[in-house]
Amino acid sequence: MFIGHYGVALAAKGIQPRLSLGILFLSVQFLDVLFAIFVLAGVEKMRIVTGFTAYHPYDLYFMPFTHSLPGAAIWSIVLAFGLCLFSVSNNPTRRIFSLFVALAVFSHFLLDLPMHTADLTLGFSGQDIKFGFGLWNYMWLSLLAELIVFGFGIVLYWNSNELLHPILTSPGGLLRYGMEFRVSQEKSSSPPHLRPVPDP
Ligand SMILES: [Zn+2]
Repeated sequence: MFIGHYGVALAAKGIQPRLSLGILFLSVQFLDVLFAIFVLAGVEKMRIVTGFTAYHPYDLYFMPFTHSLPGAAIWSIVLAFGLCLFSVSNNPTRRIFSLFVALAVFSHFLLDLPMHTADLTLGFSGQDIKFGFGLWNYMWLSLLAELIVFGFGIVLYWNSNELLHPILTSPGGLLRYGMEFRVSQEKSSSPPHLRPVPDP
């Protein structure tokens, strides 16, 4: 999954508005950031195979340290612990933020699972059984899955926004907003002789 990961970051921001969106963006893509570094270092491996999936040409054939169940769990704890260590906020808030960061990192693995071809492992060897439900083999289904998760994040993010909240989230809020706007327009456009005369 690509853009869909950011949906999780937006949803987390909606639930926990004081947590930095930048940190959440980094958290949801942390496994891919590490994967890019590990590929450059020769620790994990990928190759480009034209037509490998309908969605992209990347054969991600060896990435047990970033895209395995224990790998994802460990990196979740590492980033959350690092944030906890360097955070300046007070203890209870710090713990909640760290939990959100850990969940955001691990969500990457969970969202990759339906998308990837069988390249996600349960262990570090890279030789054990590989998982991935292969949605990337279907272009439009992949795109739909990305947009659904991203859209879900956008909705949760907007719902937490105080400016948009009364309009978009209350029953009939949008209709009421439209009527108020129309009344204010009519008042301002009525001929001068129909406008109320202000008291001297
Ligand atoms: Zn990934």
